[in-house]
Amino acid sequence: MNDMTSSGHGSGELRDPVADRVGNVALFAVVPSAQGRLDRLRNIMVEREIQGLLISDLANIRYLSGFSGSAALMLVTGDRALITTDSRYAVQIEEEIDLAGVSGSMDIAISSPSNQDGQKHAIVEMVRSSCIDHLALEADKISWHTKKRWLEVFQEVKINIGLQPATGLVEQLRTVKDGMEISLMHHAAAMADAALGKVYPMLDEHPQEKDFALELDWWMRKLGADDRAFETIVAAGPNGAKPHAQPSSRKIENEDAVVVDFGASFMGYCSDMTRTLCGAGKLSGEMAGVYDVVVRSQQAGIDTLRAGVKCSDVDRACREVIEDAGYGDKFAHSTGHGVGLYVHESPVLGTRSEDVLQAGMVVTVEPGIYLPGVGGVRIEDMLVITDDGCESLTSSPK
Ligand code: ZN
Ligand code: ZN
Repeated sequence: MNDMTSSGHGSGELRDPVADRVGNVALFAVVPSAQGRLDRLRNIMVEREIQGLLISDLANIRYLSGFSGSAALMLVTGDRALITTDSRYAVQIEEEIDLAGVSGSMDIAISSPSNQDGQKHAIVEMVRSSCIDHLALEADKISWHTKKRWLEVFQEVKINIGLQPATGLVEQLRTVKDGMEISLMHHAAAMADAALGKVYPMLDEHPQEKDFALELDWWMRKLGADDRAFETIVAAGPNGAKPHAQPSSRKIENEDAVVVDFGASFMGYCSDMTRTLCGAGKLSGEMAGVYDVVVRSQQAGIDTLRAGVKCSDVDRACREVIEDAGYGDKFAHSTGHGVGLYVHESPVLGTRSEDVLQAGMVVTVEPGIYLPGVGGVRIEDMLVITDDGCESLTSSPK
């Protein structure tokens, strides 16, 4: 059960989270190397017969270049790469690309924030000099208007080029994490674990959901997180039956099951974890039974994790336990998802998923049971896939 007191999280028994869970923050004050990623992207481009790719997704750009600014475009061809931004980031872009170890592999173009023509001009000129006749755009990241506008830009300067839709190229690379990415995510997860340890005793004071959420967010930041990875969910009692409830002013009572779903963001990488807590320490009545089913369901899913396993099989393993307990229709979402620069990314651990697990993927396993008018239970961990199993990056008691 979710008796966190017995696991050293009760008031008066808190371990030092910084020393115990988070470790030495300075150790991680390095940027993941982006070296080799452009070459791996080019291999995928050759496989898919793509001559040039114009990247607009900021996480994809960060992954390839290390640049973390809020405005950028990147053009990659068979032998060249160009990154553009505006003058607010003139210093930052040089520094970050250098830190990521890729400063020699891409050109930089900078325009004023109010006039993007300089960036467009640099892209147009690289397309012209590269002699490519097709350019792929990230179809699921740009609007119809943007696609039309690029067509007009090339027509205006008399470049005859076809635009083609492309999806999932950089995302395909991002699904498998390297050692540094996994370290950063482990670090983010440790901050969230430690924050929960700090905030858990507050349940004794019957806080409002939104105060409990705010305190969690505050502690994650205090422990070194750059931000929360997504809007923290704290849903007590009947509110817990809504999987994505927003924290409200409802007071958390002793007997409530409290679904707490939250994560930290650290150097661009996210963590994601859910625990279902109880102010009284242990749930009682039907919710106690429901909690037990969800624990067993999650463990059944985790037991299937290893490289080569179909994501749909993980989903099936979790779902069978819940169906056998008679709650099949009360588990209405997917079992899990990949996590990385975005909190939700490939692969999908769902009934219809065709994804297959690979070593180095970081995924969540998060079955839940939701009883309208009564409450909900969800338990979620974030795990790295290995050749023969998995390792959990989240470690709060459950
Ligand atoms: Zn979550
Ligand atoms: Zn999740």
